[in-house]
Amino acid sequence: MSESKIEHRQRPVVSVIEAHRQTEGGGFVVRRPFPTAEIDNLDPFLLLDEMGPTDYGPGEAIGAPDHPHRGFETVTYLLDGAMEHRDSTGAHGVIKPGAVQWMTAGVGVVHSEMPTPDIMARGGRAHGFQIWVNLRAEDKMIPPRYQGFEASELTHTELQHGGRLRVIAGTIGGLTGPVDTTSPATYGHASLAPGDQIDWDVPPGHTAFVYVFSGAVTVNGTDAEDGQLVLVSRDEGGVTVANHADATAEVLLLAGEPLGEPIARYGPFVMNTRQELIEAFDDFQAGRLGSIPAAGTGVHRN
Ligand code: MN
Repeated sequence: MSESKIEHRQRPVVSVIEAHRQTEGGGFVVRRPFPTAEIDNLDPFLLLDEMGPTDYGPGEAIGAPDHPHRGFETVTYLLDGAMEHRDSTGAHGVIKPGAVQWMTAGVGVVHSEMPTPDIMARGGRAHGFQIWVNLRAEDKMIPPRYQGFEASELTHTELQHGGRLRVIAGTIGGLTGPVDTTSPATYGHASLAPGDQIDWDVPPGHTAFVYVFSGAVTVNGTDAEDGQLVLVSRDEGGVTVANHADATAEVLLLAGEPLGEPIARYGPFVMNTRQELIEAFDDFQAGRLGSIPAAGTGVHRN
């Protein structure tokens, strides 16, 4: 996929966004390139959080206890640690390193996302990502849906100089990921060894960006390093990510079809209007989004 002889038209870089640190959930710190005061969303993406890497001692690990979602999708991709989830549909499971959980909240779920009891007791490294993907108005009230894939089930390939590309959703460099997305979206993770390059043909009109979480790369010729997100234009053309440095670089590659709809968001709810937000709160407070069954009664699912 690198050193392609085919002319690869590169989209202009629009901005380089610095991630900021933010305390989330039960008190864990994330690096968050967006949303910020200036950038509400990168349509259709509503949020990108990097959780850790954090090395917890015994008894220190924290997560996000019971909370609701409605109107969008939460996508968890874990690199280190183990996260146990339980929800109001009765599902529970453990997300392990390299695995992804694509949860379509739709009409609503109440769930918890917590370190496993083992990590709670013994400590360990936690590192992963959560992205939020918006749903079209017509899909906001669909039934909840889970798609879980282990590390071995993600599509992957070795790069020219020893790095690796994993594709979770959509197509990058001819590789298509396993997730069936509700609206067209692409999600990949590349570990670029020195000299590695990815030429990514982004679907026309899609929002596209690259988030660097280790090392340094160039994105369509623009330098970017650890903690920076590079947003490219929606013009036709692709994205070339290259590692000219002497250490491995780690990046997420994200693209999606913009929904172009009004967004009303507050906390865990993302709707189209303020009235729909009020209804979401009312439904949650009245218990209509359900609650998490007692441990041991649910169906095991990732
Ligand atoms: Mn959640």
